[in-house]
Amino acid sequence: MNCQIRSPFVKALTLAAVTSASLLWRVAASTISPLPDAVAPVVADRQDAQVPDRVHLTGWVGMRMAVNESNRLAMLHVDRLLEGYRKRPGRQSWDGEHVGKWLHAATLAWVNTGNPLLRQKLDLVAAELVQCQLPDGYLGTYLEKDRWTEWDVWAHKYNLIGLITYMRYTGNQAPLPACRRMADLLCRTFGDQPGQRDIIAAGFHVGMAPTSVLEPMVLLYRMTGETRYLDFCKYILRSWEQPDGPKIISTLLTDKRVDKVGDAKAYEMLSCLNGALEFHRTVGAPQILQACLNAWQDIVDHRLYPTGTASYYEDFHGDFDFPNVSDVGETCVTVTWLQFNAQLLRLTGEKRFADQIEKTVLNQLMGAQSCDGTKWGYYVQMEGTKPYTNNLDGNCCLSSGPRGIALIATFALTTDADGVVVNLYDAGTARLTLRDGTPVALATQTQYPTGQDIEMTVTTAAKEPFAIKLRIPSWCQDAGVQVNGRNTKGITGADGYLTLRRHWGTRTKSNFI
Ligand SMILES: [Zn+2]
Repeated sequence: MNCQIRSPFVKALTLAAVTSASLLWRVAASTISPLPDAVAPVVADRQDAQVPDRVHLTGWVGMRMAVNESNRLAMLHVDRLLEGYRKRPGRQSWDGEHVGKWLHAATLAWVNTGNPLLRQKLDLVAAELVQCQLPDGYLGTYLEKDRWTEWDVWAHKYNLIGLITYMRYTGNQAPLPACRRMADLLCRTFGDQPGQRDIIAAGFHVGMAPTSVLEPMVLLYRMTGETRYLDFCKYILRSWEQPDGPKIISTLLTDKRVDKVGDAKAYEMLSCLNGALEFHRTVGAPQILQACLNAWQDIVDHRLYPTGTASYYEDFHGDFDFPNVSDVGETCVTVTWLQFNAQLLRLTGEKRFADQIEKTVLNQLMGAQSCDGTKWGYYVQMEGTKPYTNNLDGNCCLSSGPRGIALIATFALTTDADGVVVNLYDAGTARLTLRDGTPVALATQTQYPTGQDIEMTVTTAAKEPFAIKLRIPSWCQDAGVQVNGRNTKGITGADGYLTLRRHWGTRTKSNFI
């Protein structure tokens, strides 16, 4: 691979510097500003989660993002998403998860594209979903006699994730009272006080399904500052370690094997771990981070298919047990594995997680999505035909795949304390803001991954030097980098990135040959 980093040529220098700076500031002023949290995380992210409107990819990855938005997310029928809530119990036991997953994916996609029709649909679905809430706060699809037995804590999880994401990026806080009522109902119903239900018994997979509501409960705590939501999160962590609990953290700290946790169900376990990392970000829990790092290492070393997915029959299995068929690579597992790596990348800033992201995105995730974006595979086995479908009925993965695609813009190109970080290579543009407020635009030309050359143009008015960190893929042994046509070695930092630290500002003649 031949990476080239180029700055504008000398003759365009002065004019380009003034013009581009002005343009960059105008762009920065018109971007979406997510709602600030009431409670700041204790653990600062090493790498920033980028607001998706800052990154526009137009290459192979960008093309898949575009059809995910236009041919899948924008085309889903509102009535189908809401039918189980409008007429309980709906057609299928976990059907309630689809609308929250759609709200999450479609919000991120709308932030990326600005499609006004998708925004209208988002507003409609969010408002209509809230209308389905019962007076006590219940927003699942079960009849009252069957509550809290299977998948309705799970549906509350996705409704909270979807609505919190919607509020965060649109700024429309109309659903917040409904979210509070959902959370308050969970806090009243479940706990270890007399008269409360045991959340481990409220769903499947040794309680890993219902307790994965941890993630949005942490997010709602940060959004509202309500300490009872944080207390509920602590209750969930206690429940994991109770005698009949899944023993998630303790097993990962001692055995360091995901196949020994709970019933080894991969999607639910990774969902819990993503919530655990959100908890760690919020309050600082180094043991939880260590448990998650142990899980990551175990999966990478023993349980990951070459295409970047895990699981067959939806579970983690023994070391190097990789059949080509047998319901391999549930797309929900692929996406939660992707989220897990994205979380660890934010928290640690280490390139090894971005390497896994590339492997998963380019191979398994894109393989699970039909080329036109209309359909998804539930499992995508290593052998045989891809079982694409567009029917949501009983197909959890059809709502997970679009979430994975929509997340790409949050980590493909981003920023850290040193400057810019390039995690994924695809044609397109990024308009980023360094942590000191300096705008930087990057334009990438490449046919990667089919082509070997990557050319990036950096435009900035920065007067101070800053770093551009390139992720040289771990599989690439002979990468070369040039800046303005001159070979550059750069420095590989402790985080694993090839770091080019220099004056990038167009006023600096030392940039140019
Ligand atoms: Zn699934």
